Amino acid sequence: MEKSVWEKLLKSQKEFFWTGRSRDLNFRIDSLNKLKVAIKTHEKEILEAVYNDLHKTAFDAYATEVGLIYDEIHFALKNLRTWAKPEKVKTAVFIWPAKSYIQKEPYGVTLIIAPWNYPFQLLMSPLVGAIAAGNTAILKPSEVSTHTADVIEKIINNTFPEEYLRVVQGDVAQTQALLELPVDYIFFTGSVSVGKVIVNAAARHLTPFTLELGGKSPAIVCPDANLRHAAQKIAWGKFLNAGQTCIAPDFVLVHDSIKNDFLAELKKVIIKFYGENPAEHQRYCRIINDRHFQRLTGLINAANIFSGGKINPADRYIEPTILHPAQWDETVMQDEIFGPLLPVLVFSEINDIIRKINERPKPLALYLFSDDRLIQKRVTEEIAYGGGAINNTIVHVASHFLPFGGVGPSGIGRYHGKASFDTFTHLKSIVKSSVHFDMALAHPDKNPGMKLLKMILK
Ligand code: NAD
Repeated sequence: MEKSVWEKLLKSQKEFFWTGRSRDLNFRIDSLNKLKVAIKTHEKEILEAVYNDLHKTAFDAYATEVGLIYDEIHFALKNLRTWAKPEKVKTAVFIWPAKSYIQKEPYGVTLIIAPWNYPFQLLMSPLVGAIAAGNTAILKPSEVSTHTADVIEKIINNTFPEEYLRVVQGDVAQTQALLELPVDYIFFTGSVSVGKVIVNAAARHLTPFTLELGGKSPAIVCPDANLRHAAQKIAWGKFLNAGQTCIAPDFVLVHDSIKNDFLAELKKVIIKFYGENPAEHQRYCRIINDRHFQRLTGLINAANIFSGGKINPADRYIEPTILHPAQWDETVMQDEIFGPLLPVLVFSEINDIIRKINERPKPLALYLFSDDRLIQKRVTEEIAYGGGAINNTIVHVASHFLPFGGVGPSGIGRYHGKASFDTFTHLKSIVKSSVHFDMALAHPDKNPGMKLLKMILK
């Protein structure tokens, strides 16, 4: 696509935004309702497209892609009028007499860029926030999950005018061209390396942005953990979507004293979940493309296989695989795995792993398996990470009451529920002074004296 086409699109969205229509509350509510109806109308196609991209069943696609969006839309519709209201705040004594409030202002034209691993949800969820906050949006789905991208394009472009919402498809070069545009907000979900490209692009126009990135999220299994429960939750969180989940437990740190029992439970639960041959299990996904398949098989070949390890290049199948013994310095422990390989490392001192995790880039998620209150307190307080769960995995992402995001290398900013509205909203602070009574102590013709000043500003 020509650069001038993007520029034209941006101009039309700016013009539309300046008319004030997208910020009208009734228009926002109407748009969210329209979006919901459009998704419902195309629900079957969406589920099929996600299956064609990722081999994800209709049940899993509904739970992790479509259902969460309905939930986000309902929650926004229920709360939007409250969230959007100007917020009255107190007025500092030294600027009396006046009133103060915070106005909730949409940024304008937003650019939302999504990855392929939850290809529907990760474009639509930020879109709900952008609409709710009164913005327009240019939406760029991943070019890797082509089936879902086509359905999204159809849904949005046939439901909304392009000056309000527009899906544009394209490869990396096209995305880079889009990033040249002086949009008013960029919301990016994807890898850490591309996150840096986004920051550089945002720097050009000082565009505000959110980055939802990835990283190596640990699961810690302590001696007091219920091992069957821990194994179930870790196996579920890891092998869901064949490990291609940003908040999947990337690796396990298990206490030395329970290592063998935990590994035995893990092996058992994988068979319980997926049978002796997961390739035949209808809820077991495939790797998205050959590049990632080859990357993952390379990691398997360089590691110790405890169980699993079977592959089939013909349909990019990789069996749920436990890598053990595993060490901090080996290849599989360097970058986010993003596949069904689970290294299991052993620890003996909680202090050691708190330090070890803190020395590495801050993870997107962390999962602790322990009922020991002191350990829970130490891990949640002493390790920096985006968010997570105690005695569970993944679930924190599914609640619209919890803001979701990383910290530093795993992400900048947060969304979901009210946090999505806030993310796409500029908080504009306003002081409204009285014209009838003005102390004007700061004016150069007044000299209230240092004593009074120090009484007020103490
Ligand atoms: P990616 O970074 O390769 O691609 C994401 C988007 O960026 C795509 O739309 C792609 O077209 C675009 N892109 C790719 N290279 C680009 C470049 N050089 N310049 C400009 N744009 C470019 O990520 P992916 O492989 O699609 O997704 C996997 C990654 O996303 C993992 O690291 C995962 O952890 C992360 N992720 C994070 C979250 C989260 O919510 N934090 C959710 C899902 C995935």
